[in-house]
Amino acid sequence: MAAPSADRAPRPLTGTERALLDALLAHDFTGADVLRAQLDTATATPGCTCGCGTIDLHVPGTAPNAGVAGPAPVEGTVHGPDGRPTGGVLLFVEDGRLARLDVTSHGDPLPVPDPASVTWGDTAWARPDTVRRPARYRR
Ligand SMILES: [Zn+2]
Repeated sequence: MAAPSADRAPRPLTGTERALLDALLAHDFTGADVLRAQLDTATATPGCTCGCGTIDLHVPGTAPNAGVAGPAPVEGTVHGPDGRPTGGVLLFVEDGRLARLDVTSHGDPLPVPDPASVTWGDTAWARPDTVRRPARYRR
């Protein structure tokens, strides 16, 4: 990961980002309790330039390490006002630390969604133990 430039300096999580991550990490999976604790010191930088809410997450080296890596086994489905799915939310963990919150869309870029518009389920392409997999997702 490249060092952030001055205009992309890490900032505190917004209330919506924190609430969304709280909702995701309220699920019980390996390392979730430690990842939850990392939220208190996590900061964010833009994770994408398309206008969506994707963020890279930064956790100080002094924070406890969750000992897991990979996509979280719980992912969110974002629903529009008519209830139809409009996108998704996926959390990535690297080296035991929160690394990235992906906000995907079936259409126009989506901002970080209000947790009230998100339902949670098993990550489609991950199994319950995937978060243990040590291989890095990003290269
Ligand atoms: Zn984007």
